[in-house]
Amino acid sequence: MAILKAAIITVTPFQQNCSVIWKEDTKIAAVNDPGGDLEIIEKFIDDQGLTLSKIFITHGHLDHAAGARELADNFKVDIEGPQIEDEFLTSTLEMQGKSYGMDSAQNFTPDRWLNEGDQIELDGEKLDVYHCPGHTPGHVIFHHKESKLAIVGDVLFQGSVGRTDLPGGSMDALIAAIREKVLPLGDDITFIPGHGPISTIGQERLTNPYVADQLFKESSN
Ligand SMILES: [Zn+2]
Repeated sequence: MAILKAAIITVTPFQQNCSVIWKEDTKIAAVNDPGGDLEIIEKFIDDQGLTLSKIFITHGHLDHAAGARELADNFKVDIEGPQIEDEFLTSTLEMQGKSYGMDSAQNFTPDRWLNEGDQIELDGEKLDVYHCPGHTPGHVIFHHKESKLAIVGDVLFQGSVGRTDLPGGSMDALIAAIREKVLPLGDDITFIPGHGPISTIGQERLTNPYVADQLFKESSN
């Protein structure tokens, strides 16, 4: 049985998958990527009787990060992530928000920038951090081995991958990160992507046209 429970709360006009993870016994929780619609996130925390202890951010895009400052202030908790190369995004969220009608967007500097090889911690449970640039330069993902769960933001989707046409994007870097860091997590890992339905690494290895095994073989010929 998974040690961490997880729920997805779809937020912002971009239909972003904010997720809440928590320990079932202590009900101590973290929120990943609170892009906005904080009243929905806060209601979920309240309804489930959870105690929010951390906010984790995969990358600095508006739909993932614009509500982090306000949520952190409301609950007096720290923000961890993304990696520092996304500072050009986390420091301009207010400006980005104005362009998309998200007036509550706030800039932030996280309490802790994350790097490859770091671990984040939720009530004693350790999640491994991998730096997966390509969608944004400072994108990180989180993996909890014991729960066979990964939170991958806009790196990998069911049947697709993150777009790379935005500032700092690189398709080569993204595919390399997926190949070298995400797929090796294992076929039985369930992942929560930044948008759309959950999937497993195994399913993507077989069916995702961007990263499926067969494609690797063809492209290496
Ligand atoms: Zn994004």
